[in-house]
Amino acid sequence: MSEKNDVTVFYDERVLAHYPDTNVDFLPGRLDKRVRAILSGLNAQWKYPEHPGRLIAIMDLLAREPIPGVRVAGGQKATREQLARVHTTSFLEHIFALRSKSAWLDVDTTAVSPGSIEAAEVAAGTSIAAVEAVITGDSRSAFAMVRPPGHHAEPTRARGFCLFNNTAVAAAHAQAELGCERVLIVDWDAHHGNGTQDIFWADPDVMFFDLHRASPFYPGSGALADTGAGLGEGTTVNVPMPAGAGDAAYLKALREILVPAADYFRPDLILVSAGFDAHSFDLALNVSYEGFAAMTGVVRQIADKHCQGRLAMILEGGYNTESLSRSVHSVLRVLAGAEPPEPKVCGIEEVDAAINFHKGAFEPD
Ligand SMILES: [Zn+2]
Repeated sequence: MSEKNDVTVFYDERVLAHYPDTNVDFLPGRLDKRVRAILSGLNAQWKYPEHPGRLIAIMDLLAREPIPGVRVAGGQKATREQLARVHTTSFLEHIFALRSKSAWLDVDTTAVSPGSIEAAEVAAGTSIAAVEAVITGDSRSAFAMVRPPGHHAEPTRARGFCLFNNTAVAAAHAQAELGCERVLIVDWDAHHGNGTQDIFWADPDVMFFDLHRASPFYPGSGALADTGAGLGEGTTVNVPMPAGAGDAAYLKALREILVPAADYFRPDLILVSAGFDAHSFDLALNVSYEGFAAMTGVVRQIADKHCQGRLAMILEGGYNTESLSRSVHSVLRVLAGAEPPEPKVCGIEEVDAAINFHKGAFEPD
C-alpha cells in the first residue's frame, strides 16, 4: 500500500527516440511540399519545438534536486487494443505504417522520425501505468513524463505534435479495465485539448475541464458555449482565457468552476493533462511556478474529497526547458505533501516596502 503522499514518476527513455529532423528527406507527397513551403516562408531557421531535451531537462532537475517521497519507475508500451479505445482502426493502420520512416502528418508541422511510433506507443502505455499505480494503491499520485504529447490527437487525426491521445487512452483504460465509473480530466495546458474534447464529447462518464488561451490561439477550438452533446451535454467545460492571464485567473477558475463541477460530477479518478506552456517564459500566458503549485493544491483537494486522492498527471506541452522543468518540480513537491503557496501579485510586496521606506519624505514639516 502507498504511504500518505508518495508520488511515482513514470519515465521510459524510449520516448526520446521521437526526434523529427526537418533537414532529412521526408516521405514525398503533397503534404511534404506544403509544409516545406510554409517553413521556407519563415525568416528564421525552424527546429522541431517538441524535442527530447524537454524530458531530459525535467529528469535532470529531479536528479539534481530530489524530492522526498518521489520515486521513479519505468514505462510500458500501449497495446493496439488500448489505443483502439479512442482511435479508429484506419488511423492506427496509417500511423503504424510509418514505423522507421520520416513523414509530415499535418500542415501544423506535426511530424514523425524513425523512432516516433514506438515512442508514441510508450507515451500512451506509460500514461496507463500511471493510472494503474494510483488505482491499485501502489502510489498515492503519479506523473507520466511522456512525449509526444497527446491532447491535440483526435480519433482520426494526429496534430499539434500529438500522435496518440495519451490522456484519453489512460481514461478509457481506467473505465474498461480498472472499474472506474466517472473520470474527471483537467487540462491546464495553454492550448485547448481539442482531441480529448472530441473523444469524450458525447460521453457522460468523462468530464473534460479545459483552461486555455482563447481562439484564434492554436488550435482555435474550446469556446465557452461548447459543453458537449447528447448524453454528454454538460460534461465538457471550457474556460477560454485572454493572452497574459495568470495565477489569479487560473486559480479563480479552478476554485469557482472546477470545484463545484467536481462536486456535481463526483469523479472516482482525476487525470490532469499537465502542460506547462501557460508559464510566462512560453510567452502566451502568465502562470508562475507558485501558480502551478497552487493549482496542484486545488486539484489534490478535489481528489482527496471525491476519490481517495487518486490523481494521475500526464505531461502535455511546455517548450522553454527551464520553466518546464521548474514547473514540473514545483508540482511534484505539492503532490509529495508540501503546502501549496498562495501566489502573490508580482511586485506588490516590494512596492509596499518602498511605500514604507519613502513614507513621510514628501510631507511638509
Ligand atoms: Zn500546449
